[in-house]
Amino acid sequence: MLSVSEAEATIFNLVSPLDNQQDTEIVDLLAADSRILASAVTSQMHFPYWDNSAMDGYAVRYADVQQATQQQPAILEIVEEIPAGYQPQSTIEPGQAARIFTGAVMPAGADTVVMQENTQQQENRVLILTAPQKPQEFVRQRAAYYQAGTQLLPPGIMLNGAEIAVLATAQCTQVSVYRRPRVAIFSTGNELVPPEKPLQPGQIVDSNQYALAALVRQSGAEPLMLGIVPDEPTALEKAIAYAVSNADIVISSGGVSVGDYDYVEQIIESLKGKIHIQAVAMKPGKPLTVATFRNQVIYFGLPGNPASALVTFWRFVQPTIKKVSGLVDSWQPKFIKAFTRQELRSDGKRETYFWGKLYLQNGIYEFQLAGGSQSSGNLINLAQTNALAAMSVGQTFISSGEEVQVLLN
Ligand code: AMP
Ligand code: MG
Repeated sequence: MLSVSEAEATIFNLVSPLDNQQDTEIVDLLAADSRILASAVTSQMHFPYWDNSAMDGYAVRYADVQQATQQQPAILEIVEEIPAGYQPQSTIEPGQAARIFTGAVMPAGADTVVMQENTQQQENRVLILTAPQKPQEFVRQRAAYYQAGTQLLPPGIMLNGAEIAVLATAQCTQVSVYRRPRVAIFSTGNELVPPEKPLQPGQIVDSNQYALAALVRQSGAEPLMLGIVPDEPTALEKAIAYAVSNADIVISSGGVSVGDYDYVEQIIESLKGKIHIQAVAMKPGKPLTVATFRNQVIYFGLPGNPASALVTFWRFVQPTIKKVSGLVDSWQPKFIKAFTRQELRSDGKRETYFWGKLYLQNGIYEFQLAGGSQSSGNLINLAQTNALAAMSVGQTFISSGEEVQVLLN
């Protein structure tokens, strides 16, 4: 049986990002948020586009004003008024200035802006009462923040508000992003019924498919819902074959234990899938199956118990989806150190995951264990959790107030 870290390394090595040429689509900038940029963006425009004023004040020649004081102000003739959005017409000659406003284009000849608080206007003249600290003061230089032709944004980043602003500034209104990975999802089990059907004695509602669809979407992928498949080899073979040829990633839940009705692994093998993982030393989530098919599709056979299915999704499938989606950094699981508010106990035989909520309290992370049973069959207390505390193999007890590793979901 593989350890969690061995399983993780195996899985992450099996998958590569979508193709940055073929697996892309063009989207409008307004529809681009949370998408992953597929190719580097370069602009032919500098930023700032042109020298402009950082203040409301007067555009001057530094040499004219460098000695100015309250007692001996420099007196300049105002030759133009330059609001933002206006192209200056005149060149500032010695002894001259232009009235200028924030963001407005610097006129030729001027090299410095004096803020209006340090001036006094008298009709068509301005008195400069304080010398600037240095030439160029309060001028935002053309190309100071970005030079045309260099890389503006690298591929493989997620487009959020700031990146969208940068693209808008570069007048890039259509963006090439990775298509969303397609993730086929189905549930296996003769006992399962969809939530809209009345329950017969012994039946169980298929909650996993709904949970997994939501989590897949939140991870940036597109779920392909294949429904409930009975524990029958022929039906399973049909479902798995269809899933593998129509998705980048396949997630099934149930049917991967050692019970008489657990057929998933034998069907994967009959379809020429290669099984890399059959069990992982973790709790919950031991009966995890991971396989690949010749077309590079990765198959996750998650355990059927709801908590096991979700914990193995958060631990292994979520980062896999993010890696496949084209993200270069930040697809990896995020662990942080937190102080547990409750004591945590394990038999120490397998890496053990506890679900709960992470709080940021006075600048310190604290982990609040979900109340109720931490049983793999319980899904009720998974609601409103956002984190998993992990206890490593051999560790049997963490007292309250001690540090614990926490995975952010
Ligand atoms: P299995 O891994 O197939 O042995 O399933 C273990 C247990 O998990 C089953 O007895 C069900 O109680 C539960 N289970 C399996 N599949 C689902 C599902 N899709 N939704 C909710 N519970 C499930
Ligand atoms: Mg089953």
